[in-house]
Amino acid sequence: MSCRLVLQDLHAQHFQEFLLPESGHERSAYLLFSQVNIKADPWTGQPSQRFLSYEVVPVDEGEVVSSSAQHITWATQSFVNVLKRAHDKGLVVALVHNHPGGLAEFSEQDDRNEADLMQLAQNRNGPEVSLLSLVLMPNQRWIGRLWENLTDVRPLDLIQVVGDRISLHYPDRGQGQPSAILNRQALAFGDVLNQDLAQLRVGIVGVGGTGSAVAMLAARLGIRKFVLFDQDVVEATNLNRLHGATLEDAECAHPKVEVVARLMEALGLGIDVQTQQKWVNDRDCRDALRSCDVVFGCTDDHAGRLVLNRYAYYYATPVIDLGLAIEVSNAEIPEIQALDGRVTVLQPGYPCLLCRDVINPTIARDELLKQQHPEQYESRKAEAYVQGEGNPSPSVVLFTTDVANMALQELVHRLQGFRGRESLTKQRVRKFKLMNDRSQGRESKAYCSVCGCSDHWAMGDTDPFLGLLE
Ligand SMILES: [Zn+2]
Ligand SMILES: [Zn+2]
Repeated sequence: MSCRLVLQDLHAQHFQEFLLPESGHERSAYLLFSQVNIKADPWTGQPSQRFLSYEVVPVDEGEVVSSSAQHITWATQSFVNVLKRAHDKGLVVALVHNHPGGLAEFSEQDDRNEADLMQLAQNRNGPEVSLLSLVLMPNQRWIGRLWENLTDVRPLDLIQVVGDRISLHYPDRGQGQPSAILNRQALAFGDVLNQDLAQLRVGIVGVGGTGSAVAMLAARLGIRKFVLFDQDVVEATNLNRLHGATLEDAECAHPKVEVVARLMEALGLGIDVQTQQKWVNDRDCRDALRSCDVVFGCTDDHAGRLVLNRYAYYYATPVIDLGLAIEVSNAEIPEIQALDGRVTVLQPGYPCLLCRDVINPTIARDELLKQQHPEQYESRKAEAYVQGEGNPSPSVVLFTTDVANMALQELVHRLQGFRGRESLTKQRVRKFKLMNDRSQGRESKAYCSVCGCSDHWAMGDTDPFLGLLE
């Protein structure tokens, strides 16, 4: 069973400040995680788990836990208090400590201490309780494991620290044989980036013009595990921009996900691509969506964006959302008035697409109605109550592909940092007509129920899903 963990950078920083020896402090804290249970991982078909860091629980001064380079002692009372809190909120406790000497594995002392604490946790919260343990090394690297019970202790397959940068922590990172295929890329960015990309599980929601370009570029870049979401089939009007689609695909109305998956597999690069021929808000997509480490939002509908917009915050998982807007005049020969490509990163701490006015909630509602209750939608449409079903938007492969390129550059920067420290952008807009790029700031609205309040960030599974009424 795969077991992955997301650490919000905000929480990781909290420990970096006082666990690393130069701080001179000797304090402790626990971290509480929400647990995401996936029945069938899209790549293995097996159950898998993800843990999302939800909150730090500091320990009072009077409950100081001692630690040295060789040992750590957890105070029983503080642990019992945190177990109660975790139990009340349905969360999992993580013990966090450091190895100032840099030992990159759990010590025998850790094994003994944690077994004692696991016993205590089972006594307090019942036999089903799990316990996480995370260790921070002086080089800012993390290792972690999961105690499922007193005998089954599982190393975490991946720890993903999500902030302005994304850092990945997994066994054997930086070791192993570099890939000859990605050699030229390693010459630019180093072998570790290639290894990191191969670790990621990436969702692409919408595989039209931008999504098919993201898929092709991401495959060339070295990402190996994908899940594609799109209910649509290929039509003749897609052939100007849908990478991999042929005239025959349009004539036979082949599903877009199959066409793009076929193209990726034909590369022979060992790509494992799974498909969901459904809208992303379909209940059947939930396991696949919740299994992703990063999601590219390449849908052009508001309803799909609304789901991804919430998902990024509830699951503390970066969503890189793409958009292209071409505005033309009404003249007989249209004249371009605006031609903008947009890449927006969504995750806890960032303003969401509602606050950025990218999503129109009224159109989203109408689109959802159309997908879920087509008859109601038709009757409302007859009464002219629905919005947004106008003429098809203009689209040109040069710009859809360029936006895909910008989105993958954003991912590479977040993993590898090639743009340097001062180059954070949460939303980048390329003004094709004006030949310039802009980094657009925006504040979260205080009342925004998605990004304006941290209560449900990393909350994971909720009923209803993503807090959306069905
Ligand atoms: Zn230790
Ligand atoms: Zn918002």
